[in-house]
Amino acid sequence: MRIANLDGRAVLVEGDTAVDIAASSAGRFGPDPQQLFASWPEFRSWAGAASGPTLAVDTDRLGPPVPRPPQVFAIGLNYLDHAAEAGAEPPRHPSVFTKFPSCLAGPRGAVEISSRMLVDWEVELVVVIGIGGRDIPADQGWTHVAGLTVGQDLSDRRLQMRKPVPEQYSLGKSCPGFGPTGPYLVTPDELADPDDLAIGCRLGDEQVQQSRTGKMHFSVPDLVARLSGSVTLCPGDLIFTGTPSGVGAFRTPPRWIRPGEVLTSEIEGIGSLTTRFVEADR
Ligand code: ZN
Repeated sequence: MRIANLDGRAVLVEGDTAVDIAASSAGRFGPDPQQLFASWPEFRSWAGAASGPTLAVDTDRLGPPVPRPPQVFAIGLNYLDHAAEAGAEPPRHPSVFTKFPSCLAGPRGAVEISSRMLVDWEVELVVVIGIGGRDIPADQGWTHVAGLTVGQDLSDRRLQMRKPVPEQYSLGKSCPGFGPTGPYLVTPDELADPDDLAIGCRLGDEQVQQSRTGKMHFSVPDLVARLSGSVTLCPGDLIFTGTPSGVGAFRTPPRWIRPGEVLTSEIEGIGSLTTRFVEADR
């Protein structure tokens, strides 16, 4: 099952067309995409029977599939090649920060950046929690996952690393538009192997990151177990699961995104994000 946010309404996507969930369910689910997670098991059981008039899916009109998550977790240094390029040891526990939900954007947005910012890219697999809980065992981790989507953990490295470190981490990763997600929430059963997907991103025509999610140091079910060992996971939460090597900050010389550039982020079986960067007018 593929779910999208089309003009602010939850839709089920099949190929190039979609069915409006609220219309098809006579108001039982939706139209708010975030509302689906309030009764995710019931929605999953119903969704197989969805039918109704089909809508064209114009990707320019897609919003973030999960627009208002209660919590957004982001994991640092979760690919060992990225930890190595950052000069860090392999972490013994996940390194966790947040992206404040106001930064979330859809899959085809424009992000305003200024010449004062040091803007960097991080393509990431994003987990959407369907069933919350505490102390979830790792072998039950996937059963708590509603689906997966593509995310970009954009950063202003100047703000992120500003003293006092690490307090500014989350601010530097939450400027407006710094959390593009989408284009769809894809349920794990749609994917041949949800634990091992090709992931990468391009800046213009240049492939700047390329890896597989199977290389994550802490796997999706392991992250669900470890996070829920400390906090209560809620339906509709997001987990940005970390980025592989190839970010701009650790190149020689460092490479920052400039106004006019386009970043394309892709994950096998899920889709792609296209993010344009424009000069801020303030
Ligand atoms: Zn990241």
